[in-house]
Amino acid sequence: MKRIFLLAAAIATFAACNQVTLPITRTLDCDVLVIGGGPAGIGAAVCSARHGANTILAERNGCLGGTATSGLVAPFMSSTTPDGETFLIRGFYEELVNRMVAEGGAIHPLDAKIGSWTAYRDKGHHGLTTFSYETLKRVSEEFCKEAGVNLQYHLLFIKADTRRDKITAAYFATKDGIWKITAKNYIDCTGDGDLAYQAGVPYIYGDGEGGVQAVSMFFTVRGVDKAKMDAHNADCLARGDYEGQWYMNEIKAAREAGEFPSWRNKIALFENLDGTYSVNMAQSDEVDGLDPKQVTDAEVDGRAQINMIVKFLRKYVSGCENCELMATADQLGVRETRRIVGEYTVPTEDAQNSVKYPDPIFCCANHMDIHRKGYVEYVARNTNDPYYMPYRMLLPKKVSNLLVAGRCAAAERPVMAAVRVIPPCFAMGQAAGTAAALSVRQGVGPKAIDPAELVDTLKADGVYLPE
Ligand SMILES: Cc1cc2nc3c(=O)[nH]c(=O)nc-3n(C[C@H](O)[C@H](O)[C@H](O)COP(=O)(O)OP(=O)(O)OC[C@H]3O[C@@H](n4cnc5c(N)ncnc54)[C@H](O)[C@@H]3O)c2cc1C
Repeated sequence: MKRIFLLAAAIATFAACNQVTLPITRTLDCDVLVIGGGPAGIGAAVCSARHGANTILAERNGCLGGTATSGLVAPFMSSTTPDGETFLIRGFYEELVNRMVAEGGAIHPLDAKIGSWTAYRDKGHHGLTTFSYETLKRVSEEFCKEAGVNLQYHLLFIKADTRRDKITAAYFATKDGIWKITAKNYIDCTGDGDLAYQAGVPYIYGDGEGGVQAVSMFFTVRGVDKAKMDAHNADCLARGDYEGQWYMNEIKAAREAGEFPSWRNKIALFENLDGTYSVNMAQSDEVDGLDPKQVTDAEVDGRAQINMIVKFLRKYVSGCENCELMATADQLGVRETRRIVGEYTVPTEDAQNSVKYPDPIFCCANHMDIHRKGYVEYVARNTNDPYYMPYRMLLPKKVSNLLVAGRCAAAERPVMAAVRVIPPCFAMGQAAGTAAALSVRQGVGPKAIDPAELVDTLKADGVYLPE
C-alpha cells in the first residue's frame, strides 16, 4: 500500500514538473473568434462582422497580412483565368484590390502585364496583383474597423478547451499574462492549423511521410536598373535563350565558386510599385515550420544566404550591379505544414476535372507549385476553365463549431499547392466568415447551415460562381 502511495506521489510530482498553471488575466467573449490575421483571417473576420456577428480577430503580430506583409511575399498570385482575361477570384478580394488600386497601392489583375512585375515569368503568371505591403496593412485595418471587427494584436494562441465535439475556449499568451476568449464559432486561419490541432482535429503534415516543401526568406532590394534588366530579358527571349533569361548558368558558376548559397536555380526579382524589387531566392529545405528552433535556424541562415545573394546579384546579374538590400522578412516564409482532414478533403482529380459541387465557395485557375530542394514542380493549367472549391473543405472532422480557412484547409497536397496562394486564401476566408455568421444567426452549427443559402449570400457579396 505504502509503495503504491509513493509511486502515485512520484507520478504527481513528475506531472507537476511538466506543466505550468497560470492565472487568466483577461476574459473576452464573442460570436465568432478568428485566429490569424493573414489573407484568410482578414477575409474571415471582415465578412463575419459584416454579416452581423460580434467578431474578434486575434493575431500574434502587430499588423495584418500574414505572409503577405510580415513575410514580404509579393505579388499576389493569379486571380484570373490563365490567359489573364477573366477575373475569377472576386468578392471581398476584388473589393480589397479595388481600394488598393484607387489609393495607388496595387495594379489591378486585369491590367497586369508579363515583365518585370512577374519576374519575367509568363506561364501561370497572368493576372497577378503587384501591391504595396504598407497599403495592404492599412487597408486591411480600415476594412476591419468599418465592419466593426474587434482587432486584437499581440495574442499568440496556445491552447484550446474542448467539451464533447465543441471548442469551449481559446487561450493566448500575451505580455499581460494569459487571455481567454470564448465564442460560439471559431475560425482557424493560422496557416498551420494551430487551433484545429489543439482541438484534436485529424490532419496531414506535408506529404504525409514527414516531407514538406522548402521554406524561403523573402527580401527587398533597391537600386535595380530596370531598363537594363528589361533589355537583357528581351534579348534572351529573342534568341530563345531560356537559361540566359534566368541567369541559370551564372547561378551554377557562382554555386561552384561558393558564391551562391541557395538551391534556387533561377533569379526571381518581382518589381514593386515604388521601383524596388521583392526577391524570392533564399531557400532552406527540410525545415519544420512548427518547430521554433528549426524556424529560428532557418531565419538566421536565410539572412546569411541573402547577404551572399545580394553580392551575387551585384557581381553576376546585369542591371543589379548597384542594387542594395532594403529589408529581410520579419518571419520565415513557410509553404507547408498541417492540412486538416475535412468533411470533404478536395481530391486532385476534382480540380483537374473542374468538378461542380452543391456548395461552391469560389472558383479559380491557379497552378500547382511545389518547391523542393533543387527543383520546383510547377504544373500550369492548360485550359481557361476554372475549378471550384467546396464549403466542406473548411469544415474539420470531429469538431462541430470550428471552420478552417487558408493554407491549412482540407485539400490533397497538389490542390493545396495551388490554392495556398494569397487570392484563394482571401476567398476561403470570406466563405468561412460568412458561414460562421450565418450559423450564429440561425442558431445551428456551421455544419448544419443550408449550403444553398451560403452560396446565394456569397454571390450577393460579389463572389463569382459561373454555372
Ligand atoms: C516563400 C513563399 C513564397 C510565396 N509566394 C507567393 C506569391 O508570390 N504569391 C502568392 O499569392 N502567394 C505566395 N505564397 C503563398 C502565400 O503567401 C500563403 O500561402 C498565404 O499567405 C497563406 O495565407 P493564410 O492566411 O492561410 O496564412 P498566413 O499568411 O501564413 O497568415 C497566418 C496568420 O496567422 C498568424 N498566426 C499564426 N499562428 C498563430 C497563433 N498561434 N496565434 C495567433 N496568430 C497566429 C500569423 O502571424 C499570420 O498573420 C508564398 C508563400 C511562401 C511561404
